[in-house]
Amino acid sequence: MTYRADTARYDTMQYRRSGRSGLKLPVISLGLWQNFGGTRDYPSAMEILGYAFDQGITHFDLANNYGPPAGASEELFGQVMARDFRPYRDELIISTKAGYTMWPGPYGDFGSRKYLLASLDQSLKRMGLDYVDIFYSHRYDPETPLEETMGALAQAVRSGKALYVGISSYPEKETRQAHAILKDMGIATTIHQPSYSMINRWIENDHTIDACGELGIGIIAFSPLAQGVLSGKYNAGGTEGTRGGNPNGTLRASHIEPRVLDAVGKVAEIARSRGQSMVQLALSWALRRPEMTSALIGVRNLDQLKDNLGVLNNLSLSADEVEAIDAATKD
Ligand code: NDP
Repeated sequence: MTYRADTARYDTMQYRRSGRSGLKLPVISLGLWQNFGGTRDYPSAMEILGYAFDQGITHFDLANNYGPPAGASEELFGQVMARDFRPYRDELIISTKAGYTMWPGPYGDFGSRKYLLASLDQSLKRMGLDYVDIFYSHRYDPETPLEETMGALAQAVRSGKALYVGISSYPEKETRQAHAILKDMGIATTIHQPSYSMINRWIENDHTIDACGELGIGIIAFSPLAQGVLSGKYNAGGTEGTRGGNPNGTLRASHIEPRVLDAVGKVAEIARSRGQSMVQLALSWALRRPEMTSALIGVRNLDQLKDNLGVLNNLSLSADEVEAIDAATKD
């Protein structure tokens, strides 16, 4: 059956402006990093993606290398566009990135103009799109002049293959430099995509968050649930069917430090006192500062997505709650 978007899709979602740009994003965005690879079947992918859009999640985040295998997530999303989302293209913000290893040899990694622009063409082809809404430099490349990497982003905009550009995981100093270079070229740095959660505060510690606020760059936080650790499930023990239980995965349950589990246990009590689930508290926390535009989540199934969207019922945190979370989670 062909997908028809819910007519009530904009009734409950909240949207925030990305920095000082004209672009608004939903406070919850959905990424296709690990859960939409080659083994995901179309109906179950569409169940999640269709529900997300029905709830006003207009932003779907991809990268050239998402899968596994690399490229599979974009291919799957291309099928979704072709079969179900095509009528809604103008209601969607679709992003992709290049910066990590994608193909062999010297031109399939990091930040050269050669890599970024070829990769963008490949991404567009896999997704069956004429343009992406946001194209990112996926990571800072210390060996390529930043003028070249930013020049490639500017070219992506000028050629009409990207509407906006962003940077991901750039530290404070390189964020400021990237912004200045793009500004000189007449291009805005619309968004920064760093990791950020209660237990991963590097953007607070190195002041990237302050630089973005000052420069008018929006922030979309990736892994706001610390890949699932902030759901509390690793405190409960069992790891079957979880990311942490995958021996080849990016999170090893057995490597989660006791002090982290201890912190999560304390935060769970605060969540209980608010009548929220742990993930809902973690998301409202990630969104608490005005610099934050969106929290970029991943979900394995529909139940997780529904749980996470419950955050919309209570996004505000009191000063006492913020202080208690700091006390529990800050190093
Ligand atoms: P999260 O921190 O949201 O972790 C997602 C995982 O948490 C899920 O796969 C699931 O794990 C678990 N989870 C989610 N909801 C629940 C719930 N309600 N209850 C219990 N467990 C839950 O984010 P990700 O690490 O997945 O990253 C999100 C997105 O950010 C990516 O898809 C990608 O778009 C982007 N990203 C960008 C990066 C970059 O370098 N720019 C790097 C990494 C991510 P489980 O599988 O165990 O069920």
